[in-house]
Amino acid sequence: AAAGLGDGDGDGGRRPLRVFFLPFFARGHLIPMTDLACRMAATRPAEVEATMVVTPANAALIATTVTRATASGHAVRLLQYPFPGVGLASGVECLGAAPAHDAWRVHHAVDLAQPIHEELLREHRPDAIVADAPFWRTTDIAAEIGVPRLTFHPVGVFPQLAMNKLAPLRPDIVRAGGAAGPTVTVPGMPGGKEIAIPASELPEFLVQEDHLAMSWDRIKAGQLAGFGVIVNTFAALEKPYCDEFSRVDARRAYFVGPVGSPSHSTVDRGGDGDVECLRWLSMKPSRSVVFVCFGSWAHFSVRQVRELALGLEASNQTFLWVVRSGDSDAPEGWEQRVAGRGMVVRGWAPQLAVLAHPSVGAFLTHCGWNSLLEAASAGVPVLTWPLVFEQFINERLVTEVAAFGTRVWDGGKRSVRAEDADIVPAEAIARAVAEFMESGERREKMRARAEELAENARAAVSDGGSSWHDLRRLIDDLTEAKASRVPCDEDP
Ligand code: UDP
Repeated sequence: AAAGLGDGDGDGGRRPLRVFFLPFFARGHLIPMTDLACRMAATRPAEVEATMVVTPANAALIATTVTRATASGHAVRLLQYPFPGVGLASGVECLGAAPAHDAWRVHHAVDLAQPIHEELLREHRPDAIVADAPFWRTTDIAAEIGVPRLTFHPVGVFPQLAMNKLAPLRPDIVRAGGAAGPTVTVPGMPGGKEIAIPASELPEFLVQEDHLAMSWDRIKAGQLAGFGVIVNTFAALEKPYCDEFSRVDARRAYFVGPVGSPSHSTVDRGGDGDVECLRWLSMKPSRSVVFVCFGSWAHFSVRQVRELALGLEASNQTFLWVVRSGDSDAPEGWEQRVAGRGMVVRGWAPQLAVLAHPSVGAFLTHCGWNSLLEAASAGVPVLTWPLVFEQFINERLVTEVAAFGTRVWDGGKRSVRAEDADIVPAEAIARAVAEFMESGERREKMRARAEELAENARAAVSDGGSSWHDLRRLIDDLTEAKASRVPCDEDP
């Protein structure tokens, strides 16, 4: 069949390709998926209708972005369903909003959302389903209604490959002592670079038999059985890994990032950002400010917040620090002492706009994938301070492969379990930040590398670039799948 829109849909051939997006309950997933939905709708305005399928509080976080897309004439919709009852307060529907000890409830909501998703998908029968990795069960329902299901990965290819290659080694790692065991080398990583990681820095599902260890194989099977995988990355950032991933981890792979672009760099991306900090940045000299932000849900202990505050103070550098609401405050009198050169944002900063600001010279980050991609796309070198899950693997891409950052501290025990990790002392933070901001050969190299990546990222999403191509290939493939499909209504 021809790839023409609507061929075979039995309605005269003019209905757009209706794509449903199902994001996991965390802003690090919700934000890039919304960006992707908007990009798909904007790429072929008359041909693609993108629907974000979300719960009410998460809908509120993306409502402005969706409204803006609609106002530009792009078909982006919201379809809401109730957040499953998992014992969280009303309006608490994502990882960052739930207290740390209740994070398991958010994960539990994934299981309880399944029947709701199934009902919605049966009722609305979209032409394609883009579901987040934890919603692996949607592969089956997509097969049932006869439409393609794609997995969306908000995490890059390098960490995914590493985790996929390490997963079969779990029994050996557990036998060797689990998290307390020795350093593990990732087998079969392409790119000619050996990647070695102490067991304490590996995601927990790789060092013990837990809930995710049990479902990992099913997530992977769902991914492989599905139509393909969409990743928020660009080929120039992790080329050999993208090639290998396409070969072994997906039937079709689409590398469409960075999906967040300057046109999305408004302050309300993912929530109401603090506009004041952008005005403050504008009063600072070019590349003079260290941006300090640890993502949308990671929490620090009271002691660690204190050391970080004292370290930033002692660094004598200008900084913009985002403190999660719920985390403790800096020590008494601290804000007065750093007044003028230190700004604290409580809650949510417009990170994309901050990173794009010419006054920002470095980013102290927890190495969440979105943050790293956004830093690379903005040409900002990073100081790495990974905290949980795959962030220590992401750090290796930054420091050992792409070379646009360095560790904030190497002097003590690091671990994905905060309780097993040493507190990073104020003196170490002060030293690392000061050295990184002072111009020197090392920093210049990392900055040059970050700027090169930013140029690559711009090229990737511009006309004819790799991500530009992959996004069009994705839409074309889905359009063709729709055209060659027997209309669902006529299914036996
Ligand atoms: N973010 C933001 N403002 C904040 C904190 C985070 O805009 O104050 C955005 C950030 O730009 C990124 C996402 O939230 O797009 C965080 O994703 P990431 O993968 O870096 O970390 P996670 O929150 O998943 O740990």
